[in-house]
Amino acid sequence: MKFSEKQIDRYSRQIILKKIGFTGQKKLLKSSVLIVGAGGLGSPIAIYLAALGIGKIGIIDKDSVEISNLTRQIIFTTKDIKKKKSLIAIDKLKKINPDIKLKSFYKKLTIKNIGSIAKNFDLIVDGSDNFRTRFLINDYCLKFNKILISGAISKFEGQIYTFNFTKKNSPCLRCFIPKMPSNPDVDNCEYEGVMGTLGGIVGSIQANEVVKEILNIGETLCGYILIVDGLKLNFRKVKLNKRSNCYCNEKK
Ligand SMILES: [Zn+2]
Repeated sequence: MKFSEKQIDRYSRQIILKKIGFTGQKKLLKSSVLIVGAGGLGSPIAIYLAALGIGKIGIIDKDSVEISNLTRQIIFTTKDIKKKKSLIAIDKLKKINPDIKLKSFYKKLTIKNIGSIAKNFDLIVDGSDNFRTRFLINDYCLKFNKILISGAISKFEGQIYTFNFTKKNSPCLRCFIPKMPSNPDVDNCEYEGVMGTLGGIVGSIQANEVVKEILNIGETLCGYILIVDGLKLNFRKVKLNKRSNCYCNEKK
């Protein structure tokens, strides 16, 4: 792949970075990322990944924009209310960066369709709002050795995990949460509330993790969970060990 003059201009501030350069930018442009959920996390994740030049981005979301989404789902505007999130998000990303390939999936991610959708992407970013989807993505990525960058927000708090299943010693979500919570389909933000900016903080960190995993630079968060307290402004990195009786150990 040869860079056009426009591409050199567009990505110049990253290309100039020693740890990225032309080689790294090329890697980003050749990589593909599936974003699950175009919500409070999915919005900043998608905006940054498109802007910085991930070559192919997929967005899956079954919902339409509601007025209560707009405090944090910054890819949408008031005019987008009632429109399909995945389609609108793709339209916006095209304007941010026409240089990349985009694909929208206006559907719910299920055990039946995850294989056919996710197989076309190198890396999965979870910005979903419920445990059923989080476990589904964890189990899929574990089975097919994919890298998963997961985030969650509630109230003034956030969590980020990176599971790199291309490595044998990566823990999984079930190491940390062994059993699916009793109400796996509930979106906690709807009941407990969430501060809009937490989506930006956590989503931006997830996008940053994506770049690090693709370029293999810096220290990955794999093996840790990052807990963000937006009120005290504490960032705690807690070691996340592989649980000996977790089913991720059964995988050979
Ligand atoms: Zn596990």
